[in-house]
Amino acid sequence: MGTAEHEVVIVGTGFGGMGAAIQLGRLGIESILMLDQADDVGGTWHLNTYPGIAVDIASVTYSYSFEPNPRWSRLYAPGAELKAYARHVADKYRLRRFMRFRSTVERVVYDPRSRLWTVHVAGQEAVTARILILATGYLSHPKRPDIPGLDSFAGKVIHTAEWDHEYALEGKRAAVIGTGATAVQLLPEIAPRVRHMVVFQRTPIWVAPKIDPVIPPALRGVFERLPISQRMARMASSTLLELMMVTGALHNKQLPFLTRSMEKRCAAHLARQVEDPELRRKLTPGYSFGCKRPTFSNDYYPTFLRDNVQLVTDPIDHIEPDGIVTTGGQKHVIDTLVLATGYKVWEKGNFPAFDVLGKDGQELGAWWDANRFQAYEGITIPGFPNLFNLPSPYSFTGLSYFFTIEGQMKHVARCLGEMNKRGARSFEVTPDANDDYLRDMRGRLASSVFLNGNCAPANSYYFNQHGEASLLRPMPTLQALWRAGHFPLSHYRFE
Ligand SMILES: Cc1cc2nc3c(=O)[nH]c(=O)nc-3n(C[C@H](O)[C@H](O)[C@H](O)COP(=O)(O)OP(=O)(O)OC[C@H]3O[C@@H](n4cnc5c(N)ncnc54)[C@H](O)[C@@H]3O)c2cc1C
Repeated sequence: MGTAEHEVVIVGTGFGGMGAAIQLGRLGIESILMLDQADDVGGTWHLNTYPGIAVDIASVTYSYSFEPNPRWSRLYAPGAELKAYARHVADKYRLRRFMRFRSTVERVVYDPRSRLWTVHVAGQEAVTARILILATGYLSHPKRPDIPGLDSFAGKVIHTAEWDHEYALEGKRAAVIGTGATAVQLLPEIAPRVRHMVVFQRTPIWVAPKIDPVIPPALRGVFERLPISQRMARMASSTLLELMMVTGALHNKQLPFLTRSMEKRCAAHLARQVEDPELRRKLTPGYSFGCKRPTFSNDYYPTFLRDNVQLVTDPIDHIEPDGIVTTGGQKHVIDTLVLATGYKVWEKGNFPAFDVLGKDGQELGAWWDANRFQAYEGITIPGFPNLFNLPSPYSFTGLSYFFTIEGQMKHVARCLGEMNKRGARSFEVTPDANDDYLRDMRGRLASSVFLNGNCAPANSYYFNQHGEASLLRPMPTLQALWRAGHFPLSHYRFE
């Protein structure tokens, strides 16, 4: 048996990777290496700094339950506050000593003889680990659209995940491609700055009114002195969001009025803000609420009423050095192109982020492709011992991602605790337990909006290339948390 250089290697220093490291600390594990290709902590909130970025889940809910933050300035904190919170967590839990930045993992390989993982890092010596935790995120690899001529564009191209703050938008003729959750936050911020902005929309998005009050210093003081008050606010906000975003989507068959009432609420919001019936029609989604992550904004629709903003719904045919041409042959001359086109999700390079070779030399991405996307309790995979893959299929319940992270922390603790108790050197989920979980997930989807609603026109990243809604874990958030603490340990083989 070999000896590992590190008991645990974690790839990713976002909230997922940091949650895992905090849990390892609670288990008394100190031999940890955290690798990240970025140059600081925070993951999503370090990488995304586009104008208008903010959480779309109330901040009392979008944070660790064990690390409440009484300093949020508003109900939906801006991105910079999430980045500051990530720095605070890294410092408070003394995680920086484990972190190595500018380290891109290219490939990880399991050796069944030594029962160790070898982690290959670009331009650095490979490292070995007994346990590997992949916390590479599910929205962390920016996606450029596949549009003919994009590379020939002679002006400035900015992807929202790589915002260039040095570039002045003032006086520019800009185009924005994409009208997803990012565009909803971005467009109202940049429209007043540019001379002209043309927005290319493939799929309209459901936008609900945003109730986003400033949290007055007096209330922040109460949260600081009386943490129970913030815990109660967290419980209230989480319950409401679970009802709006999770229950309605999961039980669409039994409770169709929940998603329909949200659709009505969003449609009324649009009608209040946009009088022109033609513009309203273009901005109205043709898919059921819940098929895609909904967003909240009070100034997205009014952006399209500005004289310098134009909404284009004709598909893009190609891009030329000085503009975008639609299939109807109309050319829009621009000097700045903003890609609000989101992230890779189901393709290789994200799910998984790089080659992951298991005990039989099987590569995870190829295995998923051939056997359908699956992971036991959304975290472990048969054939891949000593591996926790946090961004897995059927892992995110759809509420705040922090609930998923905390469930996964519990799961890690139970597996590693048992391994330690038995003096084992490896753990692996059994194929039967994995099959049962997949069957359960697919059975539960039968009542969901993903199967009962009209999701085809949504172009939603919840669906993989085989048309399966395999991103979300179709289960109430509390049940998923309970399961993390109670799954039978017999579902694992410890050796
Ligand atoms: C703009 C935006 C807004 C969001 N808003 C919300 C919200 O309001 N509510 C919500 O619940 N969720 C939201 N999300 C989802 C969000 O990604 C999760 O909530 C959470 O931040 C994920 O944390 P993570 O640590 O798992 O992954 P990430 O934060 O994505 O971190 C992954 C890390 O892995 C690193 N990495 C990736 N590949 C490699 C590699 N090959 N080698 C080394 N390092 C690598 C990356 O550099 C990154 O630092 C949002 C996502 C985005 C993009």
